[in-house]
Amino acid sequence: MQLIYEKCRARRATRLDPLDVPAAPFPQALRRVQPAELPEVSELDVVRHFTHLSQRNAGVDDRFYPLGSCTMKYNPKATEKAVSHPGFTQLHPHLSSVGAYLSRCQGALALIHELEGLLAEIAGLRAVSLQPIAGAHGELTGALMMAAYHRDRGNTHKKVILVPDSAHGTNPASAAMAGFRVVQVPSNTQGTIDLQRFEDAMTDEVAGIMLTCPNTHGLFEPDIVRIAECAHARGALLYYDGANLNAIIGQCRPGDLGFDVMHYNLHKTFATPHGMGGPGSGPVGVGERLLPYLPGPRVARHGDAYALEMPEKSIGRIAAFFGNFLVAVRAYAYIRSLGDGGLREISRGAVVNANYVHARLKDVYKPAFDGRFMHECLFSATPQAEKGVRALDIAKALLDCGFYAPTVYFPLTVKECLMIEPTETETKETLDAFCDAMIDIARRVDTDPESLRTAPHTTPVGRLDEVKAARELNCARLPCG
Ligand SMILES: *Cc1c(COP(=O)(O)O)cnc(C)c1O
Repeated sequence: MQLIYEKCRARRATRLDPLDVPAAPFPQALRRVQPAELPEVSELDVVRHFTHLSQRNAGVDDRFYPLGSCTMKYNPKATEKAVSHPGFTQLHPHLSSVGAYLSRCQGALALIHELEGLLAEIAGLRAVSLQPIAGAHGELTGALMMAAYHRDRGNTHKKVILVPDSAHGTNPASAAMAGFRVVQVPSNTQGTIDLQRFEDAMTDEVAGIMLTCPNTHGLFEPDIVRIAECAHARGALLYYDGANLNAIIGQCRPGDLGFDVMHYNLHKTFATPHGMGGPGSGPVGVGERLLPYLPGPRVARHGDAYALEMPEKSIGRIAAFFGNFLVAVRAYAYIRSLGDGGLREISRGAVVNANYVHARLKDVYKPAFDGRFMHECLFSATPQAEKGVRALDIAKALLDCGFYAPTVYFPLTVKECLMIEPTETETKETLDAFCDAMIDIARRVDTDPESLRTAPHTTPVGRLDEVKAARELNCARLPCG
């Protein structure tokens, strides 16, 4: 759409309504001498421009998006209807900060209170705070609560957080931001925590351990109960990274496994479409030990009325108001519409789909581990890389087949990683089409490797210098054909 960048005058896409307030004089000193060089375009030009831009975007609504760890699932549009209710969208957040206005936002407070209760029940924990606005923010909140807990007990020697080597990068980053020293625990060859190395690392200095279960290898930690007992025996706390909650929801609960604190990624598990940076929500849940330290203020129920209270030992506010409230509304609508049985179906579908993909691809790509995958399956493209086609090339070639790519090069523990998370929302037909494409790409490694190394060939832009593209955003340079 070259047109939109040209200076073409006297075209209009919209007409302003006549002024219905007294005209205010605009100070002469602030007026332009030269007219601004803005494009003037018709409505049709604007519509086409933005429609074309939207068609260049990849998303769950237009293709299969198996980006491992991210849970890029389809989310029902019915939740958007709940979110667009003016009773929610028109609420001013300051209604909740002025006592006299609390009566005007009782519905929102009730929703917050109920959703916190539902999330706590789902995880087998005592209470939840919706404040954190991303998973990583929930991690930081959890780590700050662990620090407050140990401070309260005079545990000044407890300065270390253990994190497995398969962990998401946000885990060690959050622990470090909260002032802890991070010690890595290696995985064993089966892709789960090496119990002996864990017990060796479990010194008196350890304040807590952060775990994802199933972990980012897609594997359930078989020794999780033992790990929890060992940590608690040493006075350490257990943090559960809830990004993979769709693998176990309705089947087992982090609280029952022994975890003291966790975050939920509402934008992964509970119906908010995500990607490209937000908006997200990463509520934290706690068990008995950390209950007094939850961020505040908290919504408390007194009979039929909801009020705000700051718990005595709270770590305080960690976000304005109650986090990304509309994301919470979506989660509430989603949980209530699915009900108990529906929530169980999430984890069943997620695990069955990942295992189906694994079964169809395991003879063509090398599974990264021998164990039973849960909601995502990992392959290592090292045999293909030896022939000159790397995991990155396979990912790029998939774009030409109409699929988004799996996660590559994460987790760092798997060389030439292809981390595929089909999610629970895909049909067998879609999974088959994806597996057919993967199998065809594997064949082309032998017959036409060059076409893979130069892929993608059909996308609006080909291979980018990805670091440069992320650092130097320059839209004008994009081909706008
Ligand atoms: C996505 C993810 C996170 C971080 O969550 P954000 O909401 O992106 O901050 C942490 N751990 C794992 C395993 C994840 O997949």
